[in-house]
Amino acid sequence: MTSRETIVLVLMVTISLLVPSLLCLICIACRLHLDAIRRRRLQVLEATSTLPRESSVIVTLPTSGLDDCTIQSYQKVVLGESLRLPGLNALTCPICLVEYSAEDSIRLIPMCQHCFHVQCVDEWLKMKSTCPVCRNSPLDHHENEKLDQL
Ligand SMILES: [Zn+2]
Ligand SMILES: [Zn+2]
Repeated sequence: MTSRETIVLVLMVTISLLVPSLLCLICIACRLHLDAIRRRRLQVLEATSTLPRESSVIVTLPTSGLDDCTIQSYQKVVLGESLRLPGLNALTCPICLVEYSAEDSIRLIPMCQHCFHVQCVDEWLKMKSTCPVCRNSPLDHHENEKLDQL
């Protein structure tokens, strides 16, 4: 074997070893890159899934509250001296159990006509979408009936 042939042989062996290991390295790099992208995408998904989506307004779970717009859209009255309530109810607010007095702001849940102090029911409806007295959902009666049957 001449020295030239030896060099060629060594070169070929080196290349035949280098090429697969380079390919391997490229593969690993691609994989890591893809993993990073996937992880980033998952993080984005997790971040967006915690935000309220449009669909969550339509399919409101009994444990979740209402958004401000919905709460503000319910009828609100200021009590006069006659203390005449616009809906059903006794003379006390069922949430704080304090008697209504003149000039109190009262909010009416439209589906069941129950009345509460505005500040009391607003806080409640932010946490739960159901009426604190009759547990009717102001949003959807049918949804509630379905839950009752379960
Ligand atoms: Zn109250
Ligand atoms: Zn009610």
